Amino acid sequence: MNEVFRPEFLYGMLSILPAAVWAFALVGWMITDEIGSVEGWTGIGAVVGLVVVAFTTKIELLSLGACIGLWVAGVLYPLIRLGMINRANLQIDVEIMESAYRQLDEKNNDIGAKVQLARVLYKRGAHATAIGLLAEAVQSGPEGMDQEARTLRIWQSLHGESPKGRKIRCLRCGGLTPANERYCRKCTGPVLIYEAGGLNVLRTAPLKMFYVWLITVSLVILAPGFAVALPFPVAAACILALVLLAVLLMHRTARGAVGQG
Ligand SMILES: [Zn+2]
Repeated sequence: MNEVFRPEFLYGMLSILPAAVWAFALVGWMITDEIGSVEGWTGIGAVVGLVVVAFTTKIELLSLGACIGLWVAGVLYPLIRLGMINRANLQIDVEIMESAYRQLDEKNNDIGAKVQLARVLYKRGAHATAIGLLAEAVQSGPEGMDQEARTLRIWQSLHGESPKGRKIRCLRCGGLTPANERYCRKCTGPVLIYEAGGLNVLRTAPLKMFYVWLITVSLVILAPGFAVALPFPVAAACILALVLLAVLLMHRTARGAVGQG
């Protein structure tokens, strides 16, 4: 076959663009401290490894796999980016709610804190819970809560009233808690923060896609690539290192330590 038309060459060329996008993204995340340097450099190593495999392997399927692996990364990149932005916004809302929780822990009838909680819940789409909380705040609050009363009427006209004795299901443990209480009756977690989506912040969701990608390409493409290209002892050592790295990353992801650098 003609040198220029080797399929590996084509797959290699097609790999360069997503590889560049992905490598720049990883460097950026390391600079902004969104991923640790271990994860960042491992990711860049995987990108370089995939490009090398795509260009050099004698096995067409492996070359194609490396190319696809990089394009998957290119598609994942905007999704992960979006996930990070959403998470940052959610983080801000969770901090507002945590501060309201602290105020209410000190003073159980802190109207301002209740209004604050209701506003965040409403914004996050937990309309019924927000309406119930705001109704409670307006009823028990002093005169002159005209603005809050007006907001409440608008919310109620859009979504209906929140029925008395309504219960919410804890998103962490599944237990039921009256909607006017702040802590889950079963697991004692801050149930309103979970209701507003705050559980996602605690679980560091978006970067998991990156780790799943990294572990998958390491085991499915890079390890066989090493096995084909390198003499046995070197290949075995490289594959062992890859597996150890994958285990380390899974462990760090499971602990939720990622993103703290
Ligand atoms: Zn619970």
